[in-house]
Amino acid sequence: MALIVQKYGGTSVGSIERIQAVAERVKRWREQGDQVVVVVSAMSGETDRLLTLARQLQARPEPRELDVLLSTGEQVTIALLSMALAASGCPARSYTGAQVHILTDSAHNKARIRDIDAARVRADLDAGRVVVIAGFQGIDEQGDITTLGRGGSDTSAVAIAAALQADECQIYTDVDGVYTTDPRVEPKARKLDRITFEEMLEMASLGSKVLQIRSVEFAGKYRVPLRVLSSFEDGAGTLISFEDNAVEDAKISGIAFSRDEAKLTVLGVPDQPGVAHRILGPIAEANIEVDMIVQNVGADGSTTDFTFTVHRNDYAQALDILQHIATDLSARHVTGDTAIVKLSLVGVGMRSHAGIASQMFASLAKEGINIRMISTSEIKISVVIDEKYLELGVRTLHEAFGLDRAPAAAA
Ligand code: ADP
Ligand code: ASP
Ligand code: MG
Repeated sequence: MALIVQKYGGTSVGSIERIQAVAERVKRWREQGDQVVVVVSAMSGETDRLLTLARQLQARPEPRELDVLLSTGEQVTIALLSMALAASGCPARSYTGAQVHILTDSAHNKARIRDIDAARVRADLDAGRVVVIAGFQGIDEQGDITTLGRGGSDTSAVAIAAALQADECQIYTDVDGVYTTDPRVEPKARKLDRITFEEMLEMASLGSKVLQIRSVEFAGKYRVPLRVLSSFEDGAGTLISFEDNAVEDAKISGIAFSRDEAKLTVLGVPDQPGVAHRILGPIAEANIEVDMIVQNVGADGSTTDFTFTVHRNDYAQALDILQHIATDLSARHVTGDTAIVKLSLVGVGMRSHAGIASQMFASLAKEGINIRMISTSEIKISVVIDEKYLELGVRTLHEAFGLDRAPAAAA
């Protein structure tokens, strides 16, 4: 008998029929003799709908109140799924995050899970029930409801699987696994049977929203066996593998991209020690995360241009800060651009292959795509390009690195 945690995303519970289909799938696992804990998202579109309601009242609602509101989406689905399970003859019980003590810090809208008390869940499982838990939500030490950030139900599921020492955490979604890139952007994207944990971590952190980054971090920390698969059809999905050498012998495993980017440039600052700190200090103090940074030496040799990227949501605030310190910095001008995206190649195979970066740059150049910024690490290369080239860029690289074809097996 195995203990399985299954998470169903918004589309997978998007209608009564879909909820019934989930109940049937859960029942099949139960009938095989497995114990099943189900974590659900809100019905598709619900979290956005709630956000729109809130913003009609206040441009920036109090994060605490927003969490009270947003957490209701998942509460609807747990109750409906438990009813669907009962109707199909499968005893089930639903719980909100607070009811199973998913304790988080108090960072509303982006809380982190600290602890889960699995005793109540175990008692239900031992009594032969399916346990249905609301994803995306928890409770802090003051007893206030918190949420974990968009896509947070993935993290709830992995955290619950870790707390229960489950045999596997299965993330059921609207695609049948992790692909070489988002199949919505490149229809030739190929499903991967396995991806290394390290690569999945990079893909998620560089913008692939198929798994929330924190869920991958959690899986790594607690060694939770994690699989992404379809709730619409049967199949083995994609296993997030902890073995480096278990994967296909590819140089590149996938292409990630992020539309959540914005770029800021301070032009003509004196080329002196301390300038980077004077620019980025106030940005850090405002809790704005900086991603890529480029500093050029200006044409006259005595001034420099300083460019960096931030999350698009932080753009307005970052620009405001820079405009305030520009005079102090004796800067000539401050500019910004939100029509940019980040495109990244990811693969552990990059470690042992030189020349990937130049192949990437040459392919983009051939299509007339200008690279605005570059950053690299051992297993990834990221470039910032104009937003209008996103689709072309993804498809060009997908083709250039032969990602639509399965690589030859390792010799
Ligand atoms: P859910 O609501 O089930 O959590 P999400 O929309 O959060 O589903 O995640 C699934 C989506 O992730 C897919 O529909 C797909 O468009 C997108 N996606 C992005 N990158 C990838 C990738 N590399 N492989 C598969 N799906 C991806
Ligand atoms: N419902 C939340 C969201 O839309 C959490 C999730 O689906 O994972 O982001
Ligand atoms: Mg998701």
